[in-house]
Amino acid sequence: MSRLDLVIKSAAVFTGKKLEPASILIADGRIKGLAPLDFQLPGETACKDYGTLPVLPGLIDTHVHINEPGRSEWEGFATATKAAAAGGITTLIDMPLNSIPSTVTVAALEEKKAAAEGQLYVDCGFYGGLIPGHAKHIGPLVDAGVFGFKCFLIDSGVQEFPHVSQSDLLEGLPLIARNNVPLLAHCELISERSPLPAQTGDPRKFLSFLNSRPPALERAAIELMARLSGDFGAAVHVVHLSDATSLDIIEKARKSGARLTVETCPHYLTLNAESIPDGNTLYKCTPPIREKKNQEELWRGLSSGFIDMVVSDHSPCSIDRKLLSQGDFFRAWGGIGSLQYTLSATWTGARARGLPLETVVSWFSERPADFVKLTGRKGRIAPGYDADLLAWDPEESFTVTEQNTFHKHTLSLYTGQVLYGKTKATYLRGQLIYADDLHHKQAGRMIFR
Ligand SMILES: [Zn+2]
Repeated sequence: MSRLDLVIKSAAVFTGKKLEPASILIADGRIKGLAPLDFQLPGETACKDYGTLPVLPGLIDTHVHINEPGRSEWEGFATATKAAAAGGITTLIDMPLNSIPSTVTVAALEEKKAAAEGQLYVDCGFYGGLIPGHAKHIGPLVDAGVFGFKCFLIDSGVQEFPHVSQSDLLEGLPLIARNNVPLLAHCELISERSPLPAQTGDPRKFLSFLNSRPPALERAAIELMARLSGDFGAAVHVVHLSDATSLDIIEKARKSGARLTVETCPHYLTLNAESIPDGNTLYKCTPPIREKKNQEELWRGLSSGFIDMVVSDHSPCSIDRKLLSQGDFFRAWGGIGSLQYTLSATWTGARARGLPLETVVSWFSERPADFVKLTGRKGRIAPGYDADLLAWDPEESFTVTEQNTFHKHTLSLYTGQVLYGKTKATYLRGQLIYADDLHHKQAGRMIFR
């Protein structure tokens, strides 16, 4: 046996489909192989035995807004990646908005990279953005290593990232298909059949806001994207699905060969419109959190394997933009800070529904890895993969406090909630980066496609 740097043992290593006893052999930051639990260590090899605690692949979150440069007061690379490490996330992909500039050119990507330099606690990749008139930047951004492109079909909330029209999509999708990268679409569309309702009613009532963003907007957008995906043979990804009735559109499109994938988020899975307090704009995001009945349909979509993955859509802002003193749902910034609690919040909901941990882990590991073509590098505990690992206690609960939150803005809708599933240790390429509430080595790198 050649030299090993570290061996991690557990009676419950996630080996792809199940949790089973194994020793994970690590050298040069990679998994060299798996061996039986009683594997005899060569010589002086360091060993960490986690007993019966599950050891999982480090999580991959393919939907995070870091906002630096330009809006670093909203969120930054150091705080976001610290929070990720504490939440067991070892790889994240940064969205092209709400930083300034948006990542819509190679020059803007260079600014992103300069801002991220020296700040990363976990690995971080980037998406490019597709905005009107920018299709010509798709090829150069792919060559520069972005993992896909994000677009909006409705106002994005920031003026430097305008939404695309159908003609922009007709121009961009052939290039998306040719470069074999996914187009991630914010799916809400105003059309003749799905007009935007007037903002009426008490702005402090969540119901007023909910009524202003009906499921018809999501359905119209998903219908359009499903059709265009089929027409161009382009991979299209529906981000943050909120409306479960849209799942039938996706199913039909997939059956006819469209390359359509879909994600949802912990806030849609664990919170519901009926229980959102009046005036608490921490709960505002778009599309909105919908009713309890819809939520159970999302769980059904996930547990049947139809929804591909769960992502945070961590999209914080400076706290003043939440207008908490007015509690105005129409005017407050729409976005939820949740990166650190993505797995615990989702697991808390899954556990209550009797779903096994093995199923939940796949939403955060192999599936997102396949989606951004990190297969072979990240998302599995298997030979040749980066030794990105998470020792995690699914039965330990904790209360979310501002003190134990590492996001730039520590107040979130999860503050005060009791969640199940505690990170005991996070490893990135075989190096301990977080354990027992403390960060260790800052070992994150920028990654490219
Ligand atoms: Zn987002």
